[in-house]
Amino acid sequence: MPPTSIEDLLKTIFGLEVAKKRPSTKAVADVLDIPMASVTGMVKKLAADGLLEHVPYHGFELTATGRQLALRMLRRHRLIELFLMQTLGLGWDEVHADAEVMEHAVSDQLVERIYTYLGKPEFDPHGSPIPDSDGAVAVRSGVPVAQLAAGDEGIVSEVEDEDPEFLRYLSSLGIKIGSPLRVMAKDPYGGLVGLRVGKRSVSMGTEAAQRVRVARSNV
Ligand SMILES: [Zn+2]
Repeated sequence: MPPTSIEDLLKTIFGLEVAKKRPSTKAVADVLDIPMASVTGMVKKLAADGLLEHVPYHGFELTATGRQLALRMLRRHRLIELFLMQTLGLGWDEVHADAEVMEHAVSDQLVERIYTYLGKPEFDPHGSPIPDSDGAVAVRSGVPVAQLAAGDEGIVSEVEDEDPEFLRYLSSLGIKIGSPLRVMAKDPYGGLVGLRVGKRSVSMGTEAAQRVRVARSNV
């Protein structure tokens, strides 16, 4: 694995903020799977560069400049994923790892050419919104399947992109972006969620149900 860069750290902190989780040294170390001591060192550097601020008792948060940089990397990442899928025919489970590497290497001009070539897309292969070149990004759509109740239905709008195994699991259940989905039954206390996906009945574990978002059509 390449060493964790400042850009990756910014992206991770931004991701935690979007997920409404408090960015802390431990939370960042867990996501990136690196020692807390490494995170502490990088956080100091980011604070000195004015990219993040410490919030007493609450960890830290990105400054406006830090957020702009994180969004710039996300724009690169999401456009590259879509480009690999649409031009080379890679699956949605195959694009993340290469995009993680390529996002640091391509020029701004190339990113903008890819954007135009792809017809100015708004979403990446996993349903995540692509920030525009000014760093504005659409509000994330949908709610996790885990938060739906029996009888709720909607369209799969976004899935987590990091784990290829998880994406293949979703494919095996017939789930893709845009799939119609209905919650048929839900075990109390976080057991299985029974779903209707198109014409198929499937069940999904709670952990997976946290990682799939649905734009509800019945509320
Ligand atoms: Zn990705």
